[in-house]
Amino acid sequence: MAVFSKIDLHTHSKASDGALSPVELVERALSRGLTHMALTDHDCIGGIEEAQTAAKDRLTLIPGAELSTMWNGYQIHIVGLFLDTKSEALDLYLQGQRRLRVERAEAIGAKLERQGFKNAYEECKKRAAPGASITRGNYARYIVEMGRAQTTDEAFNYYLKKGKSCYVKTQWPDIRVAVDAIHASGGVAIVAHPRRYDMTNTKLRALLTYFKECGGEGMEVSSSQMSPNDLSYMQSLCLQYDFYASLGSDFHHEGPFRELGLNLYLPDDLRKIFDHPKGEPYFSNLKAYQ
Ligand code: AMP
Ligand code: MN
Ligand code: MN
Ligand code: MN
Repeated sequence: MAVFSKIDLHTHSKASDGALSPVELVERALSRGLTHMALTDHDCIGGIEEAQTAAKDRLTLIPGAELSTMWNGYQIHIVGLFLDTKSEALDLYLQGQRRLRVERAEAIGAKLERQGFKNAYEECKKRAAPGASITRGNYARYIVEMGRAQTTDEAFNYYLKKGKSCYVKTQWPDIRVAVDAIHASGGVAIVAHPRRYDMTNTKLRALLTYFKECGGEGMEVSSSQMSPNDLSYMQSLCLQYDFYASLGSDFHHEGPFRELGLNLYLPDDLRKIFDHPKGEPYFSNLKAYQ
């Protein structure tokens, strides 16, 4: 088992529900000694250019995105890495996601207004970068700021999660559509945080089987706050499905549990996403850093 504290392939900025601007995120990554970081905002690549400019030759910035999809009624996140941000296919796909997100964010805002939050959508939008994806994460922080919940977790439990007053169901695209868009833009597709879907192991295996059929290449084996048991189960699934193993903190903001490059491990027997041919341009310098 190797510790990888310098490589983090799942992070968020203000281009979606992260608290830091892309520049601030890069500076934080550098202060934590990272050599490689993927920026993977929700359904948005709007922060990549700024992050790459800030990173210059101090940090290898990998263009990515975390795409929202549906599978069997579950909201599943697919991370695309090594994306060509100039790709027309990706642009088209993200435009669709953007429409869905704006519609949903407006609907959530309207529901929050009924709970006494004034101009909720506009207020929330004001706090994100121009063109950013507005997610429930953005609303959660806004709810906390308004003093209506102590933590973002509470905001979800009181208002935002399924079954609560401000929940809005969205028909995200099928996993296959997201994987196709990632491939059309030169990237690789990875199932994000497989342990966080609140599904049985049988369901999880069915999800991975379908993802593999769609041409998906990898899964996140390690993220912050993972138990040794979960890590070892992810390891066995990764081997069984012959996926490339990825890792990332899913950093959104400063807090006690999730931090850039914190608690990321990859078992030695797995194929690493760094060794995928499409990762070559970003990881050819890896040896030099080690
Ligand atoms: P959305 O894609 O709009 O449904 O928002 C999903 C985002 O909300 C996730 O990426 C997390 O950042 C955040 N989130 C989901 N569940 C929780 C929770 N229980 N507490 C805090 N943030 C959460
Ligand atoms: Mn998020
Ligand atoms: Mn996610
Ligand atoms: Mn994420």
